[in-house]
Amino acid sequence: MPTQPGLLDRLSRRVVLGAEGYVFELERRGYIKAGPFVPEVVLDYPAALRELHREFLRAGAEVMVALTYYGDREKLKTIGREGDLEALNRQAVRLAKEIAAEGEALVAGNICNTWVYDHNDKQATSKKVRQIYTEQVGWAVDEGVDFIIAETLDYLGEGLLALEVIQEFGLPAMVPFGSAHDRLRDGYSFVEACKIMEQEGAQVVGLNCSRGPATMLPLLQDIRQAVSCYVAAQPVPYRTTPEQFAFQALKEPGHERSFPIALEPFLCTRFEMADFALQACQAGVNYIGICCGGAPHHVRAMAEALGRTTPASRYSPALDLHPMIGAHVKQKDQQFLGFWKDKE
Ligand SMILES: [Zn+2]
Repeated sequence: MPTQPGLLDRLSRRVVLGAEGYVFELERRGYIKAGPFVPEVVLDYPAALRELHREFLRAGAEVMVALTYYGDREKLKTIGREGDLEALNRQAVRLAKEIAAEGEALVAGNICNTWVYDHNDKQATSKKVRQIYTEQVGWAVDEGVDFIIAETLDYLGEGLLALEVIQEFGLPAMVPFGSAHDRLRDGYSFVEACKIMEQEGAQVVGLNCSRGPATMLPLLQDIRQAVSCYVAAQPVPYRTTPEQFAFQALKEPGHERSFPIALEPFLCTRFEMADFALQACQAGVNYIGICCGGAPHHVRAMAEALGRTTPASRYSPALDLHPMIGAHVKQKDQQFLGFWKDKE
């Protein structure tokens, strides 16, 4: 018997704060290769993954997501590690569980876009995708996850397959869509797709990845109006715009593209992510988190914007104590910084 409230229980009471972006963050730290983005860190440097889980937990995340994103059979094949498939999937859940137990966090299994599905070759590719999801969800359930997040899905068809498999295992399903375009690859709008997922029994629908706060929020409002189930939002912390509404499109003048490893000039501050958390909450979003690019300082600011105090809040900013910009700046230091005032 579970000793703590599960996902649906928690969602019925208040916003659940999630946190992802593991792959991008561990790539920045030197434990995952950009390009394939396969989470080899799970097996090769478990201590690094443990630490990031812990940082998100201390920042207020209520869900430890097992790092099995891009940890499926096809992805592992691309780097010649198919033989590590089951070990990687099981170990990812074990690490997430281990750190979740340090707080009162839930553990989510994770499946994602496979790059195998093709709506123009639906029958053959569906079979393969179903096999991929079935083995991954099977291992996650066996290791004891609380629910499954099937995310960054850019086909409704693939989302439906994910949902079917999760339902076969009897766990709650959170199935957010993410697309580099303004609709899904099989032609559905985000709102239509979320409505269909709700009808098919998904407990949580919504969006993750691709869009930053500015271009995800309007869609979330539409989705909230269209469905009565729980809504999730995990944007990327990048300053997407109406013209470049997905982070895959962001680019600096003179550069071909910034995605995925030169996005820093577009990174949102913690304050922007805190604003997003508040706005999403006001819009009736139930599960609020962050995706690729997110880091613990964003998550803590989001938690605090929602009125929470987290373990990491002990070290939240106290800029009034800063020797140059604080409340008690000595005259000599005021004069020193005054150099910049004259330049305004
Ligand atoms: Zn992402």
